[in-house]
Amino acid sequence: MHKVAIVGRPNVGKSSLFNRLIGRREAVVADFPGVTRDVKEGVMLYENHRMVLMDTGGLWSGDEWEQAIREKAEMALHDALAVIFLLDPREGLSTADYEVAEWLRRLDKPVVIAANKIDSPLHEAYLAELWGLGFGEPVPVSAEHARGLDTLMERVLEHL
Ligand code: GDP
Ligand code: MG
Repeated sequence: MHKVAIVGRPNVGKSSLFNRLIGRREAVVADFPGVTRDVKEGVMLYENHRMVLMDTGGLWSGDEWEQAIREKAEMALHDALAVIFLLDPREGLSTADYEVAEWLRRLDKPVVIAANKIDSPLHEAYLAELWGLGFGEPVPVSAEHARGLDTLMERVLEHL
């Protein structure tokens, strides 16, 4: 099954998006010992596509984005075919966001950049800054209000 990882600094809403996309239909299917215990996986069904979604939240628990964490993350993402790079642009971009962006560039996997917490169209003004990260057009989503999820998944499917 194709794997898609959700990546981003703490608190941008990775787990909220993961839970929203997985829904209540599917239970978490894997919680491997070792490296991937920091990654929660669940089977997601979108239209006719079944895929494994990964919430990488557990990888980012350290205060610093250190070499050891990077290596763990690289192992965990080894078989991901695409990455959803999630940001919270309402707070402005942080150093952590830029570090993740730089790391993702070197990782060289297809990246779909998504702005979370865009709860209403009024918030779309926050998107402009995200173009500067160099991953193309950001998809506005709201994990909490289930906005933009179809657009996000269509963009992800382009890479599977
Ligand atoms: P994670 O650390 O990246 O996994 O982020 P969480 O999923 O735990 O979410 C962090 C906080 O952001 C929580 O308080 C969520 O309720 C909140 N949050 C997540 N998605 C949204 C959203 O779409 N809109 C708003 N307003 N808040 C959100
Ligand atoms: Mg989380």
